Amino acid sequence: MIIRYVTGLHGNEIAPILALASLGKNQLVANPLAVTKKVRYVERDMNVAFGLEGNEYEVQRAKEVLQQIDSRETVVDLHTFAGKSEPFVIVVDKKMLKLAAKLGIRKVVYMKFNPKQGHALINHRKGVSVELGQHSDYRGVFQRVKMIVERLKKGIENEIEVYEVIGKYDKGEKYRNFVKNADGYYPVLASKKALEIHGWYALKARKVTNLNP
Ligand SMILES: [Zn+2]
Repeated sequence: MIIRYVTGLHGNEIAPILALASLGKNQLVANPLAVTKKVRYVERDMNVAFGLEGNEYEVQRAKEVLQQIDSRETVVDLHTFAGKSEPFVIVVDKKMLKLAAKLGIRKVVYMKFNPKQGHALINHRKGVSVELGQHSDYRGVFQRVKMIVERLKKGIENEIEVYEVIGKYDKGEKYRNFVKNADGYYPVLASKKALEIHGWYALKARKVTNLNP
């Protein structure tokens, strides 16, 4: 498996870039202009810009990024987040669960219901996105990036918990990530900024033990 690390898809998520650089690992910095400006994006959220047409910086850059990633490569796309949550892996394809299990991160969010409507990087290249920790949790993020690099070398699958996204929460309540809500489902990707960034309060997931359809 040829791993391709992708970082800086959101320009305000700096720690994974430096963590990989400090380990001497190659990486593709997806949104260098936003990173330089220290903003999440310049014209539009790049992780909903893959496969689109247009003149916006992120749309153009998304095209270049796809050209730079060989379809034989497997993407490990590293992010940090604003809310309070345990780290987690995101997959959009069940086939990527095996890879997710090798990273050493227990919680895996399977986006069966895709709120990004197919325009995220991992909708266009095989691989996973990893949400490593809060933007400012530099130490935690550095440690986890190091762990991921080491574990991918070993290739051992660990036990994972899979949360299948089935919808979204449009109503404002107090959502705690990966803690069972009153409705029996699990909120994921909840944060104070979720509404502003995504247009919903949290995604709604069910915990699954058997993923066969
Ligand atoms: Zn991000």
